[in-house]
Amino acid sequence: MTTANRTGGAERRLVNANALSRRKVLAPSAAALAAGALGGTFGVAGTTTGTKSYALGDFSVTVLSDGHLVVPSAFLARNAPRLELEQAMTIAGQGGERVNTPTNITLVRTKSDLILIDTGSGPHFMPTAGKLLENMEATGIDPRSITQVVYTHGHPDHLWGTLDDFDEEPNFPNASHVLSAAEWNLWMSGDVLTRIPQDRHNFAAGAARNLQRIKDKIRTVKPGEDIVSGLRAIDAAGHTQGHIAIEIVSRNEATLVIGDALAHPVIAFEHPDWRPAADHEPERAASTRKALLSRLAFDKTHIVGYHLPFPGIGFVERSGTGYRFTPTT
Ligand SMILES: [Zn+2]
Repeated sequence: MTTANRTGGAERRLVNANALSRRKVLAPSAAALAAGALGGTFGVAGTTTGTKSYALGDFSVTVLSDGHLVVPSAFLARNAPRLELEQAMTIAGQGGERVNTPTNITLVRTKSDLILIDTGSGPHFMPTAGKLLENMEATGIDPRSITQVVYTHGHPDHLWGTLDDFDEEPNFPNASHVLSAAEWNLWMSGDVLTRIPQDRHNFAAGAARNLQRIKDKIRTVKPGEDIVSGLRAIDAAGHTQGHIAIEIVSRNEATLVIGDALAHPVIAFEHPDWRPAADHEPERAASTRKALLSRLAFDKTHIVGYHLPFPGIGFVERSGTGYRFTPTT
């Protein structure tokens, strides 16, 4: 594997924002999205066990469900006034002490690669999640045909689907596995427990177990670098220290796979300053959210959100003093 020096987040963010505006990418039209969805190679099913596909230039993008997580609502925004949080949850249709959070995995087919963005929870995290392999099988996608696995970050619901039920063999044996150098350094350095929230300490052993097992297949990238032609790592740090979004561009059409940078359909968009318990660096995560929202509301690039309502495809619009997520499927 290769490693790279970590650079300042602000510097990287600036570089990446400039790179994006220089490229002047255009979002796919609603018609193209609809046509892609209806005529998609992998079929259509608007449920959390299904898949959704659309054409993006010469590529196809498919969102597969890994099932869902069940999380305490209070974890979604630690610093929010209780009443305001309840109102936001009601708007999201998620009343109650616990909420179901979808987990959407993106698959990109280019001319030469089949790229999986995140591997889901696997069998050892939550019984309601870890459904990726069965959904791939139902859709006719052979895990051995995946050529690149790209991780937005190393949390369990994104990484623990990497190994089989016995934590032995990789589920995607022919793929190189790509993550940011900062993310590799976070989980694999001896001081990880000083760098993540106390109530996330059990994540560290699982991340090390998975990454260690596939270390010969791992390649690290820095934000701003291409993963393959048409897919670029974009700095979106804060949720974790090395969190990246993945920009997909083909023939002037673009999608930004945002991972957990915007992780709730109401809270992240209307209240980007609220602090989800899962963010490792809360202030940096909030500034990343605000920079992303501002840019996405301006250029209308389509996004795929890992924890947005399945399939999590849509775009960002300004709304009142904040923003809203507008699904396109
Ligand atoms: Zn997540």
